[in-house]
Amino acid sequence: MAGYVEGVDRGQATLFPDRLKDFVDEQNPVRVFDAFVDALDLRELGFARAVPATMGRPGYHPAVLLKLYVYGYLNRIASSRRLEREASRNVELMWLTGRLAPDHKTIADFRRDNGEAIRRVCAHFVLLARKLGLFSEAVVAIDGSKFKAVNNRDKNFTAAKMARRLAEVEAAIARYMAEMDGADDAEPAGEVRIEHLQEKLAALHAHMAELKVIDEQLRAAPEGQVSLTDPDARSMNARGSGIVGYNVQAAVDAEHHLVIAHDVVTSGSDRAQLSAMGKAAKDVIGYESLEIVADRGYYSGPEVLTCEASGISAHVVKPVTSNAVAGGRFGKGDFNYDPSRDSYRCPAGEELTHRSTANEDGQTIRLYWTNGCGACALKARCTTGSQRRVRRWEHEHVLEAMEERLARRPELMRLR
Ligand code: SF4
Repeated sequence: MAGYVEGVDRGQATLFPDRLKDFVDEQNPVRVFDAFVDALDLRELGFARAVPATMGRPGYHPAVLLKLYVYGYLNRIASSRRLEREASRNVELMWLTGRLAPDHKTIADFRRDNGEAIRRVCAHFVLLARKLGLFSEAVVAIDGSKFKAVNNRDKNFTAAKMARRLAEVEAAIARYMAEMDGADDAEPAGEVRIEHLQEKLAALHAHMAELKVIDEQLRAAPEGQVSLTDPDARSMNARGSGIVGYNVQAAVDAEHHLVIAHDVVTSGSDRAQLSAMGKAAKDVIGYESLEIVADRGYYSGPEVLTCEASGISAHVVKPVTSNAVAGGRFGKGDFNYDPSRDSYRCPAGEELTHRSTANEDGQTIRLYWTNGCGACALKARCTTGSQRRVRRWEHEHVLEAMEERLARRPELMRLR
């Protein structure tokens, strides 16, 4: 192909063959993973097989598998099958492992058997990153992912599901008893049928006894759920469908995407996780102050307040949950709060003053309204009642300050 850049002839022999290290230059990050893992005391960190077996077929050194794992983690190759494939065709991995290519089961077993030790390695890695000044921006993104447990939905019980199951079994027992009464009258052909029904009834009674035991456990369970196969798993919503699993929380450095802190929680909601994850990340990074970014699912006044008290500046967009806005009427954002007068100015220019205070779920809520709504030309766009009332949480200034921060730096939300 004259006129084009030409490649090497595949059959060409070379006098001085290429060496693996020729493909991995001095600046390649895999050299950092290699040096990092080699510097770890794997036995002290608790890795299985850190001491070679004296008998049997030699296994892979945990350092080889750990390098493979760290490489996969930092290059977003989570699947053990993909890592197996990459190990035999990716020149960086060939260099890193010395051309060893463990099969996917070995990789998966290594991950499963060394979970605790791998977590300690993560902590070491974060410390190293901190020493290298990689957390200079001190902006951390927090997010949660739902992972399915081994437990299937049939083996998970909530109070509502238990009530449904008990009612179903009771209805089935009643049905079989009625059938037995009918079979009694149809002697002698009914005898065989009665025997069959009695077996069914005995099985149902046994099932009912099992359900009663689980029901007892359910009543004692603080979160109102019992999972039989995987006791820590919980029923939760993941992307619109129900799963039984875990909610894995991660705090990730926004610049380098390093996982700084992680946790596994059994609550399906992220609403109560913001301050705990923010504090965990701040402790690891070791800074006096920290900025955190999270999606709407984390929006919670008390959580933002706790963050503020811990030197953590939260950035979470407020979800739209207002019935007024959904109905096409003015939202709370259309009312301007004046801290000097402790009052709101409505779109019609009326002043809504503080009239009463209520306690809702342990939170102090202040209520504001005006007597001018009855004669207001905008009333149809404002309220369906006789008067529009605006609610204000006693610490609402914390949420207002967060909104102002977000308005000043909208690019922060893209970091998520
Ligand atoms: S209805 Fe009341 S609160 Fe709403 S705009 Fe009119 S005066 Fe203001």
